[in-house]
Amino acid sequence: MASRDDEYDYLFKVVLIGDSGVGKSNLLSRFTRNEFNLESKSTIGVEFATRSIKVDGKTIKAQIWDTAGQERYRAITSAYYRGAVGALLVYDIAKHLTYENVERWLRELRDHADQNIVIMLVGNKSDLRHLRAVPTDEAKAFAERHRLSFIETSALDSTNVETAFHNILTEIYHIVSQKNLVHPDEKPPGNPTINPGIGMPDESTPNKKQCCQNL
Ligand code: GDP
Ligand code: MG
Repeated sequence: MASRDDEYDYLFKVVLIGDSGVGKSNLLSRFTRNEFNLESKSTIGVEFATRSIKVDGKTIKAQIWDTAGQERYRAITSAYYRGAVGALLVYDIAKHLTYENVERWLRELRDHADQNIVIMLVGNKSDLRHLRAVPTDEAKAFAERHRLSFIETSALDSTNVETAFHNILTEIYHIVSQKNLVHPDEKPPGNPTINPGIGMPDESTPNKKQCCQNL
């Protein structure tokens, strides 16, 4: 996996958001390292982790950002959202309050993230069937109303973790490649260095379509 990590067709920044304790860090470690940690400790030092996947024969490098526990203090800075083309908005299916707070997280995204950001609502801890507090149908209907994609996952037993990341990266990729198809030769309107938006290739690296990275 360490080999040729610099070879990719697209680089997508995806942020993890949601209340503290819902399993964001474990979703990230499950997807990028296939690890799970039972202890609840806030992320220290790690800003993001990466993993590359193939979609339609293209290599998509996902750069997935995790909070360092700032969500606890509602102190996530706009730098966290800058350049993000996707967001996994995570709640805990066994803790209703974390689901109620999804609306607040959507407002936070509206205020800080690119308006075209692809959002997936993720009900994590699906293994806790006996403690379920959020019905699947209710969350699914909420997601449809807000035009979000939706999935339930378990970082503990790995259910749907791959699928969740795969689906959001594929969704982003399709938006990006469609845009490139619509205007194959045209330059996008506006100044891409100020607001790259989804799907604008980074012109400083002509061989790579570095989507929206602005770190
Ligand atoms: P974060 O604060 O959102 O980053 O949440 P963490 O990843 O630190 O997880 C918080 C707690 O929930 C830890 O004790 C984890 O072991 C636990 N946890 C995370 N994901 C799952 C899951 O899918 N199922 C269960 N049962 N526990 C989980
Ligand atoms: Mg965490």
